[in-house]
Amino acid sequence: MKPQLVITGAAGRMGRRIVALAVESQDFTIAAAIDRKDHPDLGKDAGLLAGIEAINVPLSATFPKEADVMIDFSSPEAAESHIQHCIDNQSALVLGTTGLSQVHLDRAQVAARAIPVLVAANTSVGMNLLFSIVGKVAASLGEDYDIEIVEHHHRFKKDAPSGTALTLASNIAAATSRKYPECLVQGRSGKDAVRQAGTIGMHAVRAGDIVGYHEVMFSALGETVTLSHTAHSRDVFVRGAIRAARWLVAKEPGLYSMQDVLGLK
Ligand code: NAD
Repeated sequence: MKPQLVITGAAGRMGRRIVALAVESQDFTIAAAIDRKDHPDLGKDAGLLAGIEAINVPLSATFPKEADVMIDFSSPEAAESHIQHCIDNQSALVLGTTGLSQVHLDRAQVAARAIPVLVAANTSVGMNLLFSIVGKVAASLGEDYDIEIVEHHHRFKKDAPSGTALTLASNIAAATSRKYPECLVQGRSGKDAVRQAGTIGMHAVRAGDIVGYHEVMFSALGETVTLSHTAHSRDVFVRGAIRAARWLVAKEPGLYSMQDVLGLK
């Protein structure tokens, strides 16, 4: 039997591609395509909304009674109820929504005592490789290297800086004894904005339809080392999320990351 997959935020930019690529993968039965109660497309076939053939699953605001795994790319406001739903139904959860508060993250941690939960601000394989090396690079270069993170995303993105940029910064902080998030300086401006040693600068560019670009710059007097990642299409995140769901569904309750899925830990 294929695992039963629930997709939340199914009418969104990510959700539609998750529907399309989950069907293409043939690894899951789509148990439900969920969106908010007042979404104008409720009742329409989720496959047609995703630009593929009809899959006989209507976009709905009602959760199915049974499911094995949920992939959530919706909104932070919805995260709480989606986490609770997974606990109630003993379903695994891939939480890809970004902009989550500490309260949401604590909630995910508590949920992980009962169900397998994977929280990933970025589900791309390449970015997760960057997550795993960025701290080592910062530690090796040493404290004389100023660190600035610049991220570019499309004009529709709600949260800033991106969850990915924050993860990069937090990994650097953990590897270099910086205090996080106190070490962050966001969008430096003003007449007294001289760089302070030990800080990590964060800059969010929002423009057009940029899918996702992250750059971590390490700069000292005389040289700059830059690590960067470019996402060419949203499908890179979708394929990673589907890979994560396939992996997570067989796991014991616990809090997991893409690093676990990719064996990078
Ligand atoms: P979007 O606005 O296009 O889609 C969000 C969808 O969620 C919409 O259809 C909306 O109606 C729905 N939604 C809102 N509240 C809901 C609720 N209570 N219940 C069910 N559905 C609800 O946004 P998007 O570009 O698809 O991104 C969705 C989320 O995924 C964002 O948080 C984004 O930052 C994140 N994201 C994560 C990654 C990653 O790799 N983890 C990659 C891209 C985007």
